[in-house]
Amino acid sequence: MKLVFLGPPGAGKGTQAVEMARRFDVVHASTGDIFRSAVEGDSELGAVVRKYLDNGKLVPDDLTSRVVGGMVLDGESSFILDGFPRTLGQARSLTRMLEERGLELDAVIYFRLDREEAVKRLTGRRVCGECGRNYHVKFMPSAKEGQCDACGGELISRSDSSREVVEQRLEEYEKKTVPVADYYRERGLLKTIDASLPPDRVTEATQDVIEKVVL
Ligand code: ADP
Ligand code: AMP
Repeated sequence: MKLVFLGPPGAGKGTQAVEMARRFDVVHASTGDIFRSAVEGDSELGAVVRKYLDNGKLVPDDLTSRVVGGMVLDGESSFILDGFPRTLGQARSLTRMLEERGLELDAVIYFRLDREEAVKRLTGRRVCGECGRNYHVKFMPSAKEGQCDACGGELISRSDSSREVVEQRLEEYEKKTVPVADYYRERGLLKTIDASLPPDRVTEATQDVIEKVVL
């Protein structure tokens, strides 16, 4: 299974990718997670990408595509790419990198959500500092405030959750990522899901799409 999860920041791509990776036993490859780990681990990559993440800007295409090629496509045969590609340049690189390896995508699942809702989700997002599970203070609260249901870890806000950085991320999305949906629509790969529905309904819809394209 080779899928791309596309959509604005806050649409629920990560939430659904974690669940689908578990249900279908495939790798969840999130470029956002890869970059955040690099920053936290003080690696060379982290030093380069930190300023982009802190400012809500996209990391340059060549670097991002190289990271995906080396860390995902070279090692895995079944994966969900969450948050890549995010520009037309990245989409073209992905097509080329897949062709070079004799692979092709099964589908691109587009999680559609309007800007206002995305802002609410991003500013109220909480993440477990231990296992990375996603929560929302209002829409997907943990059973015990501030504590992860799965592992008991502390729930924290991501450093890019401030209103200002959220607005910048959504601007980057509208300018650079919206054309990626058209790129895949033209190639007959785009499957659109209404991401404004409650989490369980989005999960059901996502599973349905995946079963139709890969089983
Ligand atoms: P993305 O990976 O697309 O940026 P996330 O999966 O991190 O999005 O979700 C963003 C926030 O919205 C999180 O706080 C998450 O708990 C919440 N969320 C995810 N899906 C839904 C949903 N269907 N309804 C309401 N809130 C949701
Ligand atoms: P995410 O966790 O998907 O919201 O991504 C967090 C941040 O990582 C983004 O705001 C960008 O700075 C960076 N990032 C993640 N994926 C990409 C990508 N495909 N291209 C460029 N930058 C990315």
